Amino acid sequence: MAVDSPLSSPLGPPACEKDAKALQFIEEMTRNAESVQQRVLAEILSRNAQTEYLTRFQLNGATDRETFKSKLPVITYEDLQPEIHRIANGDRSAILSAHPISELLTSSGTSAGERKLMPTIKEELDRRQLLYSLLMPVMNLLGQRQGPIFLFVKSETRTPGGLLARPVLTSYYKSDHFKTRPYDPYNVYTSPNEAILCPDSFQSMYTQMLCGLLDRHQVLRLGAVFASGLLRAIRFLQLNWRQLAHDMETGSLNLKITDPLLRECIVKTLKPNPELAQFVRHECSKDDWEGIIVRIWPNTKYLDVIVTGAMAQYIPTLDYYSGGLPLACTMYASSECYFGLNLNPMCKPSEVSYTIMPNMAYFEFFPHEPNLDSTGFDFTCELPPKLVDLVDVEVGKEYELVITTYAGLCRYRVGDILRVTGFHNSAPQFHFVRRKNVLLSIDSDKTDEAELQTAVENASHLLREHNASVVEYTSHADTKTIPGHYVVYWELLVKDSTNSPDNDTLEQCCLAMEESLNSVYRQGRVADNSIGPLEIRVVKNGTFEELMDYAISRGASINQYKVPRCVNFTPIMELLDSRVVSAHFSPALPHWSPERSQ
Ligand code: AMP
Repeated sequence: MAVDSPLSSPLGPPACEKDAKALQFIEEMTRNAESVQQRVLAEILSRNAQTEYLTRFQLNGATDRETFKSKLPVITYEDLQPEIHRIANGDRSAILSAHPISELLTSSGTSAGERKLMPTIKEELDRRQLLYSLLMPVMNLLGQRQGPIFLFVKSETRTPGGLLARPVLTSYYKSDHFKTRPYDPYNVYTSPNEAILCPDSFQSMYTQMLCGLLDRHQVLRLGAVFASGLLRAIRFLQLNWRQLAHDMETGSLNLKITDPLLRECIVKTLKPNPELAQFVRHECSKDDWEGIIVRIWPNTKYLDVIVTGAMAQYIPTLDYYSGGLPLACTMYASSECYFGLNLNPMCKPSEVSYTIMPNMAYFEFFPHEPNLDSTGFDFTCELPPKLVDLVDVEVGKEYELVITTYAGLCRYRVGDILRVTGFHNSAPQFHFVRRKNVLLSIDSDKTDEAELQTAVENASHLLREHNASVVEYTSHADTKTIPGHYVVYWELLVKDSTNSPDNDTLEQCCLAMEESLNSVYRQGRVADNSIGPLEIRVVKNGTFEELMDYAISRGASINQYKVPRCVNFTPIMELLDSRVVSAHFSPALPHWSPERSQ
């Protein structure tokens, strides 16, 4: 029930006194965005003044914005790679941060095919925790709480210098901040920590699903971090409901659950419940799974999943399974830094805007115009455009996010393009437009044009013995099935029709492409089962010329026409699919191991 508090918030009546204080904190931070940003920059620059990186640019102890901007370059991950390699290899000197680097966070963004490594410091966990603590009262404004939120940890490795390398969420879930989190209504999950923290993805998903089914009437929200994760859970239910129902009927746990702590924890609560087993069998054995979420969890009020950015492709499928339940996108975050919150989480997905919290890092914005080249610079101007501060961005304009963090990233380009939609007090709110240079994405994988090109080149070597080659190609992320998969359309030049590439060869081409793709893609294929086998669809000769004719008929210039390397527009997809002569799938899993290859 809402409290009548003197701290009552413009965001809505808080659920309790603690929430009232947190909402008030959001108000203060966003009202004073400019001074908070100045303070954050000064704090970062003074504490890191003696680091190798800052001394290199001769800031000489200055902590003001003007000196900072005039002396420090705007950089990308590749610029920092030598420093990050040294850290990974065990150099413990203060290279980027005065505070010791506690671990390296493995981002889903890749560089040279491997996950980027983001140095972090212990205290960043507190900052992430702080953002979650601000999210909880915002979500509690909605009133609905408990639910199976499918959360997972991923594998971790150690760098040659002995630092842990793992994804940011794995780091967070394994921390005491998460494991011993204080009670909050929004924090109540049906999954016990033992299930979330089990490193085996089958055992983790199985037990989380089982607990979610056992508590089905208490479930008020269902979710995962990203939409793809929730759909993976639905697919898991499709494949495993018989065994799950058996466990409910008999009160005995599937023997595949071998993790001792997890087994002990679930066995304690599992009692025979034939009625529930019967219900699950009845619902899941139907051919039609439309609305399955609300059939099984009838009290669900909304889905708690991120459906912005690349995840927007899953909205129709989520609508199908949930009967159109509202989708709540809660926060915008990355390995580099947690950025901000959606203060209106029940808005339509197309209207989601994230409010960047000015206390998380120092934020700058690189003006982004559609006609700029991929570096972001407009080479018709003499000087690169000036970076804009948080409070100075303009509504309607697009920017690339640039951050300076407590952990030591300075003027670092995140690679996300954001559009300003408005302000909450003096803090701007952003629509997530897209991540730069991402052509294909199913889960957290991000494949760019150069990676796809290399993959096609590598695979097409296998066509040589058939005296054939790929003359044109394009691609599409097919998310109609779960898990989704990459489809690559190939038009072939076959010089000897008596020796045209057979199914075996084209299947091997699929696998060769997968072997060439980055490690996040291969992890999705091998460890997470979040990406299905890559498919090559061979199209009739002349198809890509038809594609060009189509583009020209819609106003493209003949001189400037380039084959799009990824297609999503329905008429184009229909044209391509109507010209398919054969389809081939990868016959095996590509290689992947948690160890990095470099
Ligand atoms: P990672 O560092 O692997 O956690 O990936 C972080 C990236 O995921 C961000 O830079 C964004 O590109 C994307 N991302 C994170 N949160 C959201 C969100 N709420 N909506 C859209 N994309 C997001």
